[in-house]
Amino acid sequence: VVSTVSILGDMIKNIGGENIDLTTLVGPNGDAHVYETKPSDAKALSGANVVFINGLGFEGWINRLVKSSGYKGKIITATKGVNKLEVGGEIDPHAWQDLSNGRIYINNIKNALLEADPKNATIYLKNFKEYDAKLISMDATTRGLFKKIPTEKRIVVTSHDAFLYFGRSYGIDFRSPVGVTTESEPSAGELAALITEMREDNIRALFAENISDPRLIKQLAREVNASIGGTLYSDALSDKGEPASSYLKMFNHNVNELVSVLSK
Ligand code: ZN
Repeated sequence: VVSTVSILGDMIKNIGGENIDLTTLVGPNGDAHVYETKPSDAKALSGANVVFINGLGFEGWINRLVKSSGYKGKIITATKGVNKLEVGGEIDPHAWQDLSNGRIYINNIKNALLEADPKNATIYLKNFKEYDAKLISMDATTRGLFKKIPTEKRIVVTSHDAFLYFGRSYGIDFRSPVGVTTESEPSAGELAALITEMREDNIRALFAENISDPRLIKQLAREVNASIGGTLYSDALSDKGEPASSYLKMFNHNVNELVSVLSK
């Protein structure tokens, strides 16, 4: 089994357990938006039975990679059926940042594994049920935590627009100097507009991201005389020893960081 990215890979591992041999292409703290494929990636695909992608344009390099690998099997789009967000004419790919979408991802993963390996169906169904219950529970907890924070305080600035699904689901207004991808840098005009906005709305909650250079967010913090609230895990998991080594740990970490800063 091949997964393009680490967050999706963790979901697959939770359902597939010991019955699958998983290779993840973009590893911990990696940025899938600007990923450069390696020869070993094509090799992993050519030996795969099932390939999972996030889709929604997140892996701009996947079609080229599939072609060069000669892979002819199924490509499962984990976001199939999610309630898509469109920002300025672009589809936002960061659908995993809403746990109700996460439940759609794991349902798609479960169905694909059942089809690829029906003899282990009982295990996949059991793993799915247990994992889904954890997602439901964390979704409810998250909703409850943010409800206690006044709406006008729930405004956050991050390096790029990776949290708009999170914002839509849990009632937080996320803003950033760039759009839904890390491929472009903001213009001086865009930066100035955001700084004006931050001063006018008294926005004090700024977060760095694990996949992005923190320089821009530090510069924004200096401009409005605020400090960085911490690091959010946006597009990739952390390494094992860090606080976001699984999808649920990542969610838990991000929620705790946001609640602690927004409650001040
Ligand atoms: Zn992103």
